[in-house]
Amino acid sequence: MTTYVSTFAEGNKDLKELLGGKGANLAEMTRLGLPVPPGFTITTQACRSYLEAGTEPSELRVQVTTALRRMEDDLGRQLGDRHDPLLVSVRSGAMHSMPGMMETVLNVGLNDASVKGLAEVSGNERFAWDSYRRLLQMFGKTVLGIDGAVFAEALELAKRSSGVKTDVELDVEDLRGLVHTFKAAIRTHSGAEFPQHPREQLDLAIRAVFESWNTDRARLYRRRERIPHHLGTAVNICTMVFGNLGETSGTGVAFTRDPASGRPGAYGDYLPNAQGEDVVSGIRNTLSLADLADLDPASYKELRKAMRRLETHYRDLCDIEFTIERGTLWMLQTRVGKRTAGAAFRIATQLVDEQLITMDEALTRVSGAQLAQLMFPQFDPAAPRTLLTTAMAASPGAAVGRVVFDSAAALASASRNEPVVLVRKETNPDDLEGMIAAEGILTARGGKTSHAAVVARGMGRTCVCGAEDLDVDADAKRASVGDVVLAEGDLVSLDGTTGEVFLGAVPVVASPVENYLEHGLDAATAGLDDDSADLVRSVHLLLTHADAVRRLEVRANADTGADAVRARHLGAQGIGLCRTEHMFLGERRELIEQVVLARTDQEREVVFERLRPLQRADFTELLAEMDGLPVTVRLLDPPLHEFLPDRTELSVKVAVDRATGAADPEDERLLAAVERLHETNPMLGLRGVRLGLVVPGLFALQVRAAAEAVVDRVRAGGRPHLEIMVPLVGSVMELFLVRDEADRILADVARETGLELSIPIGTMIELPRAALTATRVAEAAEFFSFGTNDLTQTTWGFSRDDVEAAFFAAYLEKGVFMVSPFESLDIDGVGRLIQIAATDGRRTRPDLTLGVCGEHGGDPESIHFFHRTGLDYVSCSPFRVPVARLEAGRANVMG
Ligand code: PEP
Ligand code: MG
Repeated sequence: MTTYVSTFAEGNKDLKELLGGKGANLAEMTRLGLPVPPGFTITTQACRSYLEAGTEPSELRVQVTTALRRMEDDLGRQLGDRHDPLLVSVRSGAMHSMPGMMETVLNVGLNDASVKGLAEVSGNERFAWDSYRRLLQMFGKTVLGIDGAVFAEALELAKRSSGVKTDVELDVEDLRGLVHTFKAAIRTHSGAEFPQHPREQLDLAIRAVFESWNTDRARLYRRRERIPHHLGTAVNICTMVFGNLGETSGTGVAFTRDPASGRPGAYGDYLPNAQGEDVVSGIRNTLSLADLADLDPASYKELRKAMRRLETHYRDLCDIEFTIERGTLWMLQTRVGKRTAGAAFRIATQLVDEQLITMDEALTRVSGAQLAQLMFPQFDPAAPRTLLTTAMAASPGAAVGRVVFDSAAALASASRNEPVVLVRKETNPDDLEGMIAAEGILTARGGKTSHAAVVARGMGRTCVCGAEDLDVDADAKRASVGDVVLAEGDLVSLDGTTGEVFLGAVPVVASPVENYLEHGLDAATAGLDDDSADLVRSVHLLLTHADAVRRLEVRANADTGADAVRARHLGAQGIGLCRTEHMFLGERRELIEQVVLARTDQEREVVFERLRPLQRADFTELLAEMDGLPVTVRLLDPPLHEFLPDRTELSVKVAVDRATGAADPEDERLLAAVERLHETNPMLGLRGVRLGLVVPGLFALQVRAAAEAVVDRVRAGGRPHLEIMVPLVGSVMELFLVRDEADRILADVARETGLELSIPIGTMIELPRAALTATRVAEAAEFFSFGTNDLTQTTWGFSRDDVEAAFFAAYLEKGVFMVSPFESLDIDGVGRLIQIAATDGRRTRPDLTLGVCGEHGGDPESIHFFHRTGLDYVSCSPFRVPVARLEAGRANVMG
């Protein structure tokens, strides 16, 4: 027989999946001997069966009867008894907390007869009728689906006609009248009488909680929090205790430490003569726990004892809901409490200081996402703001600036020290200078791995992308959302952590944690208030510990000396990906254009000879900044047309020139090249290793420049560790061909300079075929670096620049995946390919180094997978390096 019901005395805190968080913790408190009102939990399994079949499993009612009778026998009272009624609460409680998303019904068991019994045994008639009207109100709304306003309006009317302001001032007669009105409302709106039978009330309330799992708002919440839809909720049936039995009763919430700041000490709110929902609804001002100490010292002492007991037991911040019924304390709920990012770090280290947890455990109490939150400048939470739109939070931070629509305007403003926000339909490599000059970037198209997003994250620029309701007309220098128009020069504020775009300038406050990461502990804590200094100290302790325990190394994706410096400050142990194409932008773009236009090998060689010293200087700078650490240089990857003028614009110009008899032969030749290189699907076209094999001399130029840079650094007394990486390899033959040429060049440079060069050559794994043939590919590669952006694109057949904005919202809604596979690694699919490649590659070459340099290298969940798969390093954008360090440490202690 399936167990659908578990009493509080039977469960424990580790059964959250079955009993939900609330049920498991109520059971744990019962086991600890804390004063929990007797009750039982209906399991999530029962909910899943109900939702699947559309009806309760037949054993459920039988098991509820058994549990209920046991409870009645223990208490010597019966549900809804006309003389001394047992009343119960029916509360939802899923595995993951979903505050306020699902339903609760209190006072189940009251009816026209038992309300009188309750009045008698409580000696408080007003209380009994108030409890009954609350049941009718909650039952009507949540079980019968009647609009809550019907009851709220009737309540208002009752107060007005009695000339009182608050609910508590209503007298017995008013409440009796309200019960009458509420019952009539139920009759009118549901077409049936309020069920008088207590067990019928209970069964209907249980069913309503099951159904509340699938309301629109609950589904929306789960999507946002990445909670799977199939889990279902548990239902807790708990003996009612009453905080509204007069001034010696009350209800409250308490925290064992401050969940906002992380400060030690008890925090909480208390409301005398009230039931739980009165605290939440804010109808009366609450008192503090200190006030409770004055009001009812005995209960306060009990509560503090229970709080200490719970914190010692859970070894973490607990939050608690409690009720005092005529001087007796009852614990209604506890859980390891939610907290802000800053509080998480501070509390974790406090618990270490108090020797309640180890440093390893402390690492499990914080997360990379929380550290990321602490690193970015933040908008002053107290400041007013006007929301323009919300889109994809592509690169975190708070950016405020004047709107510009092109790079030239961005550069011009930046040269006058005027902060700008670059607004584009989408960005391309030509926008790079503008992006560097801007505080933030806002695009109307593209997802989290679009050009704008990747480049912005790489530079640590704030970026919001894919704002579909944003209409950008760069030529007219205006953009609009609905009828709100943005002109050049208007102020906007971007929150890259939430994806929100605000009109005007929202004030920004700097982050002390970022200061610490960039400048070290002493510099960052000087002059800080105690709370901030303690926070910085906590981050320092936990990050240092993560470094000590992690097995994964953390490198950075960096293409410039400035990026390399920043990455090193932030703790990078090398460069895992230098995208050399970024070195061919700006003025150098024309040189690549000439490579494309060259008619003969000799012509091309001339251009290469001009490019070589430039590349050599680039590499020398990177090697100098990363002296002693590995620098992985990737040979040119993108399709060549990215370096050529826009096809449409050029076609128009040539056509106009021809028509006016002013044809320019250079333009004609350029257009012919653009046409020749045009591809319908450039991401799957002539790029990566394919370029190296069909454009003679291109990779040779880069390999020679790299080797010469190594020589320069050795001669300067440095310790260069350069590695050469070949992109988009699908077959070992491609790699052998590139390798042969590279080995020849390295040997040449070694001979010419008399230096022994050790430059490993490896490949990116970006195509399923490379992963599936890794046994062979490893014959030609000294290392593999998983390019998970392309590997995701090619495994799913998703165009990485298009699909996120196009239809991922629908896919997320339909539950195809919980999170974009471009953001967090698709472990089942792409992850499987990585496992195959790692195992097979190491079979061929046991000392094969394995890394990852796609965006997933900085994603917490993906990092845990890379750790488990035995990779040697992750490489990510510089600003994500601290997050990756922390998560790599966590991965090791969490196993
Ligand atoms: C990748 O594909 O994961 C990668 C790192 O290369 P890029 O993003 O430059 O294509
Ligand atoms: Mg790639």
